[in-house]
Amino acid sequence: MDSIVNSKRSRAKSAAPAQSARPSREQAEHAVRTLIRWAGDDPDREGLRATPGRVVRAYEEWFSGYKDHPRDYLKRTFEETGGYDEVVVLRDIRFESFCEHHMAPIIGRVHIGYLPRNRVVGISKLARLVDVYARRLQIQEKMTAEIATCIDEVLKPHGVAIVAEATHQCMTTRGIHKTGVTMVTSRMLGVFRDHAETRQEFLSAIGLRGAAQVANGGG
Ligand SMILES: [Zn+2]
Repeated sequence: MDSIVNSKRSRAKSAAPAQSARPSREQAEHAVRTLIRWAGDDPDREGLRATPGRVVRAYEEWFSGYKDHPRDYLKRTFEETGGYDEVVVLRDIRFESFCEHHMAPIIGRVHIGYLPRNRVVGISKLARLVDVYARRLQIQEKMTAEIATCIDEVLKPHGVAIVAEATHQCMTTRGIHKTGVTMVTSRMLGVFRDHAETRQEFLSAIGLRGAAQVANGGG
């Protein structure tokens, strides 16, 4: 019994949690009906009758990141640098995620910088990588770190810099109702962590010139 519990625990920690206990579509739709009733409405009235089915299909899209393995994906798609040895910066990669505390949308942009050693990947691959991590229940800090770690482990560059800027609808539409607040998180690894000049080059490129003080979430 103990070993079963332990193996469940270790699976839960992996990048894409196992879905062995995944409920059926019918059970998921039933849960949506319960939430509609909890909100105070009647799931059997005409306008709501097809809603549980639609919500469940939307969930398949919003949380499609669980079935992808970003490391495997990047491993298959890198290319040789061909001698390129300057910083690569991709900015304004839009993402939509959901906070794991309220399941409310987190909408923002990710900026990626890395200094290649031998491997580079195409823009669309990195945008896809962001999507895989975004389309899960997330906290922004964790998502930022996961993107950085994945690029670091697969491409093995001289350094990786990730900055994410986003608004959290759990803050803007409920609770303290603060609009216009953007959360900025960052993770700097390798040369971006160790060399202020390289870090500054990246921050300038993404338009955060005066933001050298952006909290370095590196670790
Ligand atoms: Zn939240």
